[in-house]
Amino acid sequence: MTSDRTTSEDSERPPAIEPSPDNLVCAKCGSALIECIDWVRVNDNCFIGGIDGLQADDYWCPDCEIHDDPVTAEEYCAAHGHREARCTVCGAS
Ligand SMILES: [Zn+2]
Ligand SMILES: [Zn+2]
Repeated sequence: MTSDRTTSEDSERPPAIEPSPDNLVCAKCGSALIECIDWVRVNDNCFIGGIDGLQADDYWCPDCEIHDDPVTAEEYCAAHGHREARCTVCGAS
């Protein structure tokens, strides 16, 4: 056993996103894995973030491979219905 986790491939991946009605999700597929442009300090990778008023173009869904405005999980489920017994979009059960 070693405590060195840097060799694990999983350590390269960002953590899973817990379903929540407050999550912003892809308007098309409901994925919470949408990405947006954010500010990170160049020299130390310090996350600055928190931009208001992003354009639709600034969002990206890696599942649909489209740029689109996200919606909240709550809105997505109101329009498309919940998924699975415990909704994988908003977490409702
Ligand atoms: Zn999508
Ligand atoms: Zn739901």
